[in-house]
Amino acid sequence: MNGFSYKEVYIEEGRRVLEVNVLPEKYCNFDCIFCPIGRSNNKVDKQTAFEGHEAALEELGNRIDESGADLVFINSKGEAFVNERLEEIIRFIQSKGASVRLLTNGYLLGRDEYRRIANICEEVLGEIKVITEDDFKKVQRPVDGYTIAEYVSNMVSFNRQYDGKFIFEVTIIKGYNDDEESVLKLKHIIDEISPDKVVVVRMDDDIFRKKLGISDERFEEITKTLAHS
Ligand code: SF4
Repeated sequence: MNGFSYKEVYIEEGRRVLEVNVLPEKYCNFDCIFCPIGRSNNKVDKQTAFEGHEAALEELGNRIDESGADLVFINSKGEAFVNERLEEIIRFIQSKGASVRLLTNGYLLGRDEYRRIANICEEVLGEIKVITEDDFKKVQRPVDGYTIAEYVSNMVSFNRQYDGKFIFEVTIIKGYNDDEESVLKLKHIIDEISPDKVVVVRMDDDIFRKKLGISDERFEEITKTLAHS
């Protein structure tokens, strides 16, 4: 591994945010057809050891010091839980005085070993895209045996016991969850999970926008309905 990778520091609600990717390449338990990172050769939900951890951690420490980051957002090329040193990374960031926001697709929040790690973070960002079992298998192509019902219930049970801030991101995708019935289902899922904050987004990547993007008007309507759940 050649270390972690970073985005430019930015300000969010007055806090300096440093985004870090802790995976050497895409490792994810899903293989979404619209993944911005591309296809995966590593569809896994087991923790994996990566080389170069110590040097990567040292660089992370320097970046936190130099940037004066208040929040480190672990936003990786896939599912960060796959990095077997994730807990150590989180504790290291916190030892430098910064808070941690962890992005996960949310499926593994139902497993004790990962839930324990997420519970250490000040913020967890989980997400949902499609909402039927067929679509889930067809377009998010998860590890065998995964179901959308379990996906949602994993996040529901996680947030029932989580003390931090749970942010829930809903991606609206044309033809998959932008009709009235789907929006109502999404609203119900949001009610069940009861997150601290709902963020509604749509397909913005150039290559997917034409086929899977929705109009500004429809996006505004759906956002109004869901963001105030
Ligand atoms: S969950 Fe996210 S990172 Fe994983 S395949 Fe889907 S879009 Fe890519």
